[in-house]
Amino acid sequence: MTPGRPVPPPLARPALPNDAVTDPAADLDTDPGTGLLAAAYGAVSPDGGLAPLTLARRAPKADDVEIAIEFCGLCHSDVHASRGEWGNQKYPLVPGHEIVGTVSRVGSAVTDFTPGDRVGVGCMVDSCRECESCLDGLEQYCENGMTGTYGAKDSRNGDAITQGGYSSAVVVDRRYVVRVPGNLDPAAVAPLLCAGVTTFSPLRHFDVEEGDVVGVVGLGGLGHMAVKLAKAMGAVVKVFTTSEGKVPAALELGADEVILSRDKDAMAAADRTIDLIIDTVAAPHDLNPFFRTLRVDGALFQLGMPSDAMPPVNPGALIRRRIAYAGSLIGGIAETQEMLDFCAEHGVVADIELVRADQLNEAYDRMVAGDVKYRFVLDTSTLQAPAEKADV
Ligand SMILES: [Zn+2]
Ligand SMILES: [Zn+2]
Repeated sequence: MTPGRPVPPPLARPALPNDAVTDPAADLDTDPGTGLLAAAYGAVSPDGGLAPLTLARRAPKADDVEIAIEFCGLCHSDVHASRGEWGNQKYPLVPGHEIVGTVSRVGSAVTDFTPGDRVGVGCMVDSCRECESCLDGLEQYCENGMTGTYGAKDSRNGDAITQGGYSSAVVVDRRYVVRVPGNLDPAAVAPLLCAGVTTFSPLRHFDVEEGDVVGVVGLGGLGHMAVKLAKAMGAVVKVFTTSEGKVPAALELGADEVILSRDKDAMAAADRTIDLIIDTVAAPHDLNPFFRTLRVDGALFQLGMPSDAMPPVNPGALIRRRIAYAGSLIGGIAETQEMLDFCAEHGVVADIELVRADQLNEAYDRMVAGDVKYRFVLDTSTLQAPAEKADV
């Protein structure tokens, strides 16, 4: 590993190619066909829960890929967004950004995907494609703001509000579509598109390799992926948890050691033993005890976004060991493909519980209660047929 590395190793596949700019006239040369009505499940108000809806999906433009969705993972962000907990939300809103399906139609300029291909879509469906971040394959950090898969204004499509993957179909520009390896269970791949790449990206940024010691704080959707991915990279993995009840589950996932973070003696015994910590906890918590478990040049990446203030970080804890305190947001498109290919090579998928559309509200309540091992995935074949007229 290269501690504190400021720049990630080169991407295995070039980032958004500059061919990105397709001749706008191409759209005019071809018959765009017609859009379709898609069955969906979404929220019509912050407090009404989720209910059946019908979406109008656009006809594929030259660079578009139309996808028949098979599975969509349930992410905590979906709960926050659908309940309006992140402020100003337009309704109706169909959440879902862990999408796996098969290509049903492609636009005239699409050569890299053909109908029948199994593909995925993660947290974004567009970005400016011109800024330094986009050209570096870091579309998630687009200087002009990436376009989220749901609830975002889609400037290249008439400012329509994007609608996500709790749906039978979606239409996405080919540059934001990734290929799902054939040897992995497609339902269990879905959570890789958000939870997987969110944990893969900082591990890769830090160039984790055989023998490195990785700490994982929290054992939910993100944490369980961090354990599996770090193990597949050859790391020794130590899981920090507040709950004794989670010890067997952590060991079962492959953790080499589980440390009860409220046990002062156990934390003291872990002093200077860890190279990199992936912190997945979204509730406010004191990071200082974790910094003390890091070696010189170690780093702590925070992935959860607490809604309340965190206890202050003690600069001395960082200074005395040249520790980096960092954050990280999902991953770029090329990196998402690299993550899927890595998972195919190492047989890594998420641990999931498949749910029907009519179980979505119950699944949300169980997610909030922490009662899921470790990700719910919607089977979209259980959606009702679309209505004759679109709701949105
Ligand atoms: Zn997510
Ligand atoms: Zn950009």
